[in-house]
Amino acid sequence: MRLLEKDKTIESEPDFVEHISEISGEDVRQCYQCGKCLAGCPMVEEMDLTPSQVMRAVQAGLKDLVLDSHTIWCCAGCETCAARCPKGIDLCHVMKALTSEAFAEGRTQSAPDIAAFHRSFLDTVSVLGRNYELGMMGLLKLRTRNLLQDVALGMKLFARGKLNLIPEYIKGNAEVRRMIRQVLDQPRPDRTGVSPVTTTHEDAGETPAPPGHGAGEAR
Ligand code: SF4
Ligand code: SF4
Repeated sequence: MRLLEKDKTIESEPDFVEHISEISGEDVRQCYQCGKCLAGCPMVEEMDLTPSQVMRAVQAGLKDLVLDSHTIWCCAGCETCAARCPKGIDLCHVMKALTSEAFAEGRTQSAPDIAAFHRSFLDTVSVLGRNYELGMMGLLKLRTRNLLQDVALGMKLFARGKLNLIPEYIKGNAEVRRMIRQVLDQPRPDRTGVSPVTTTHEDAGETPAPPGHGAGEAR
């Protein structure tokens, strides 16, 4: 864990707290720094800012400090902090809003592999309407160029029938794809800062069925 650096000048954006409160649905100004979220967080040893420090930094408008932190990417979304917060703040929602902002601005340098994972998951879901672990892992490996990591684990999962070879679709997969594209295709050249992997299907059309499946949507 790293504490805030003394004597370091950091720019403040006064509107940041309103913006994050709005998109997270949580009133960040209500945090009074009791530290209960920090005390229960299982990921705090991996974080460079504690959860309560993130809240204070957002209140102070320290956008760069927060969006470039590792903390926002390693939050596990376990909701322990939300259950403990006496002000009823769901800090997990705040963390998600912050990662969305970092993603949108291409500020993924503090955790490029985690950002690549997010992007690979979204690409998979945007095509199939649901996750397809094998495909997602392939995209992740292409992006991180870390081809051999987790191979042994992948083999074990495959041997236990946890990884399907053939992808499956949900009904309405095209609608899911349209929703995701609507967000991702905002006017920024690469919103995520992670290299895109081109898909061959048109956004407006249904995903063709893979071998062994019926035409169009399935399930
Ligand atoms: S949701 Fe995130 S910040 Fe909250 S306790 Fe879990 S890991 Fe920590
Ligand atoms: S538990 Fe709630 S009020 Fe206390 S520091 Fe964390 S977010 Fe703020």
